[in-house]
Amino acid sequence: MANKRIYLCLAHMSEAGLEQKYIKEAFDTNWVVPLGPNVNGFEKDLEEFVGQDKRVVALSSGTSAVHLALIACGVGPGDEVIVQSFTFCASSHPITYLGATPVFIDSERETWNMDPELLEEAIKDRIAKTGKKPKAIVPVALYGMPYQMDKIMEIANRYEIPVIEDAAEGFGSKYKGQVLGTFGKYGVLSFNGNKMITTSGGGALITPDEDSWREIMMYATQYRESYPYYQHEKIGYNYRMSNICAGIGRGQMTIVNDHIAHHKHVQALYEELLKDVKGVTVHSQPKEKCSMFNGQCSMFNGQCSMVNGQCSMVYDSNYWLCTLTLDPDLKVKGQENAYKTIVKGAVGGAAGVIHAASTAVTDCQPNENVEALRVAMDQAGIEARPVWKPMHKQPVYREAPAYVNGVSEEIFKIGMCLPAGPYVSDEDVRYIVETIKENII
Ligand SMILES: *Cc1c(COP(=O)(O)O)cnc(C)c1O
Repeated sequence: MANKRIYLCLAHMSEAGLEQKYIKEAFDTNWVVPLGPNVNGFEKDLEEFVGQDKRVVALSSGTSAVHLALIACGVGPGDEVIVQSFTFCASSHPITYLGATPVFIDSERETWNMDPELLEEAIKDRIAKTGKKPKAIVPVALYGMPYQMDKIMEIANRYEIPVIEDAAEGFGSKYKGQVLGTFGKYGVLSFNGNKMITTSGGGALITPDEDSWREIMMYATQYRESYPYYQHEKIGYNYRMSNICAGIGRGQMTIVNDHIAHHKHVQALYEELLKDVKGVTVHSQPKEKCSMFNGQCSMFNGQCSMVNGQCSMVYDSNYWLCTLTLDPDLKVKGQENAYKTIVKGAVGGAAGVIHAASTAVTDCQPNENVEALRVAMDQAGIEARPVWKPMHKQPVYREAPAYVNGVSEEIFKIGMCLPAGPYVSDEDVRYIVETIKENII
């Protein structure tokens, strides 16, 4: 067991090797460029998957999708954009690329995503302080968990601010039966190597209509006007997905539903095996499941929706990563030695370049029991990782306005991500749970 390493979420190809078939076709037909039949085919697959008559543009990354959505919302120098603080940096960095300022919103406890109450407070306060409305609202489906979409959309609609859903981690997650990324004006998807499906690296933007789709397509291809020569009336970007990567994507779309089902299965197993372990709580979606009564959903007040004659769960997470929290009082073996040495490359150094940490500790870090458990799991061949450090606690965003309630900072100190990808077997989950139990005193 210990000689095999268990990773958080490793890329996994279709049994039939369809990814390679599409790539081979691209080579055979000389479509080795950032456009072509695989790109068009992948976009069509994505449009079918997300539904709602959306148009999709395949891009070189999820980060570029966030960037283009912000541009399409008119974000520019001096503007403010509201964004969930508890996220990966790709949700907020593109705001700064545009010379705008992120305004960070803390989370609510149920989904760990954007707190609607703080959202409204922030909108009011920004208008009062700056005389301007924020240009967009970016909620994030952290680890795949849907946000409180109805409340966020209600507020966004009332203030007439467009929503850009960052569903990079939530590909295939649903809210009231509808796929995330299709509620807001724009929806961001990521196909990085560790996401629900991969194109090696890549992303996509879900757009609301033909005009928006056309505009995003222009921005993604250097904004070239239709002349026999290069003519540019706006600044564009080289963000279109390569036909090779899209070939991988087409193959991956044949197994996306299997991947999602597997992640949910792994989550259910963690929930089952850890339910009696004191001091350890698996983070689960709010259990608002409805049932049919006289042909109607039993929950009313807009709590539920009918999909194909069936009522569906309000929250339906893809459980891209499974997460748990450790009670601060829980004792883990070796926690007295946590943070005694500078750690190299636990998360950083992904590109093979390590910017050595200057200190063993920072002013905001996971509790010692969490770090001790991470180290113990690492030694047992299991990749575990602290949950994402909130953006409002990042040194680089020191100056950005933030509306906080302490929730994301608290979860950051007690939270941990566990392996959940397609390669994680039931036996692996049992081994991971045993390793956790063995290290609790
Ligand atoms: C992965 C991710 C993105 C996009 O990332 P890329 O690596 O550029 O595809 C955006 N937002 C969140 C929350 C993510 O986790």
